[in-house]
Amino acid sequence: MRCPFCAHEDSQVKDSRPTEDHSAIRRRRQCTSCGARFTTFERVQLREITVVKSGDRRQPFERGKLEKSITLACRKRSIEAERIDQLVSGIQRQVETAGEAEIPSSRIGEMVMDGLRQIDSVAYIRFASVYRDFSEARDFEEFASTVQEAARGE
Ligand SMILES: [Zn+2]
Repeated sequence: MRCPFCAHEDSQVKDSRPTEDHSAIRRRRQCTSCGARFTTFERVQLREITVVKSGDRRQPFERGKLEKSITLACRKRSIEAERIDQLVSGIQRQVETAGEAEIPSSRIGEMVMDGLRQIDSVAYIRFASVYRDFSEARDFEEFASTVQEAARGE
């Protein structure tokens, strides 16, 4: 850690302990060059993830947007809010722990579809129809029948 007084790049940790609410670690440091003392805090920082959309457009990953699109797909279906929240949290965790600073929106779309498929087939079809942007009704029918077959097999 660079010394804020003389900009020397090395400092020694003299003391290290959690803050009162245990949300951070507080470290007392001493510069090995000028001897000045200063304090640093170590906190959990969930990564900032950038979503790469078609046409190379980029925007920050937002849980709210993900939640909104899933909630829309689940509209008027008898799905508990808690179930939706779990799905959103699960996807957020996958996105944040993927170890990449950027993630294609298509990858997130697949995660949502995987999740919805297990919850509700109608919500799944709704989401997929928007996500895959079906241009022809026939495509949608084929897709719907594939889902129905899969549902029968379960
Ligand atoms: Zn210093």
